[in-house]
Amino acid sequence: MTDEIVVVEGDGIGKEVVPAAVSVLDAVGDFEFVAAEAGDAVKERTGEALPQETYDVVADADATLFGAAGETAADVILPLRTAVDSFVNVRPAKAYPGVNALRPETDLVFLRENTEGVYSGHEDRLSADLSTLTRVVTTSASERLAEFACDYAPDGFQVAHKANVMRETDGRFRDAVVSVAEERGVETEEVLMDAFATRVCLDPTQFDVVVCPNLAGDVLSDLAAGLVGGLGLLPSANIGPDNALFEPVHGTAPDIAGEGVANPSATILSAAMLLEHLGYEDEGAAVREAVESTLAEGPRTADLGGDASTEAVTQAVIDRLD
Ligand code: ATP
Ligand code: MG
Repeated sequence: MTDEIVVVEGDGIGKEVVPAAVSVLDAVGDFEFVAAEAGDAVKERTGEALPQETYDVVADADATLFGAAGETAADVILPLRTAVDSFVNVRPAKAYPGVNALRPETDLVFLRENTEGVYSGHEDRLSADLSTLTRVVTTSASERLAEFACDYAPDGFQVAHKANVMRETDGRFRDAVVSVAEERGVETEEVLMDAFATRVCLDPTQFDVVVCPNLAGDVLSDLAAGLVGGLGLLPSANIGPDNALFEPVHGTAPDIAGEGVANPSATILSAAMLLEHLGYEDEGAAVREAVESTLAEGPRTADLGGDASTEAVTQAVIDRLD
């Protein structure tokens, strides 16, 4: 049986980097690609940024590769993460040889809680002067994340939190994560999230796999993105119990969209994560290595100081695959 992969290009450079990643997937396996629409362009045409058909096909898929959506990003990606019931956002931040990075020794992965915390959507305007936000933390969501972390990092992981101040919510998060890890015999190290921000800048090699609440994971993984030198390189995965959505960390890059010069690496690396998720470990590793050696030896796109097109870089990755 061939695996079915839903492909949502979206807007801007999504229309360039997603086809690039699809051609890499095509080179390593026998997949059936199902195209679906979302984003600004489809909203202009139909009035809806995320058509019901797209939501349904993503919800039913085993895996989706997503590019980026412009103005409508929040209307597209938040429901799509819900469609896959994504409880963890996996964000590797790795510096590659050949890429100018602030901290070339950086190689870590964030496992970010993806459903609650301060992104729970419970905000209220109570008066002309006062607005509030309810921070939601459940033991069940924290435990589900911890179980994933134990499978992902059986040799141990760090837990970033601020339980010394947010004793109830981050306390619950910390207790749930640490107790699952203890039951599973997986070592954990706790780190306060503010201290983490300093320590990761000074010496990122202190960290390997970092489990975080939602907002902390969002901010700290962007900080780490700065350490590795460039949005064009960072992949991510939104993992659910039996579904997942893979996307580059970058957006639609309107300043370079349509020129054929976007760096496809982040999306191709997202496709490598997709392959591993579907059980194609060897193919995923091969794609990752092909991207790494292309970054090291060229050709490179303009964001990395080169002058190669998206297509030329993609072809160089495919050429290195065998
Ligand atoms: P959006 O609102 O869709 O996020 P943005 O203006 O924030 O759009 P990003 O896509 O987040 O743009 O990119 C920020 C900057 O990084 C832009 O200057 C963009 O050109 C650059 N950039 C992002 N992704 C890539 C890429 N894949 N290749 C080259 N440059 C990129
Ligand atoms: Mg952006």
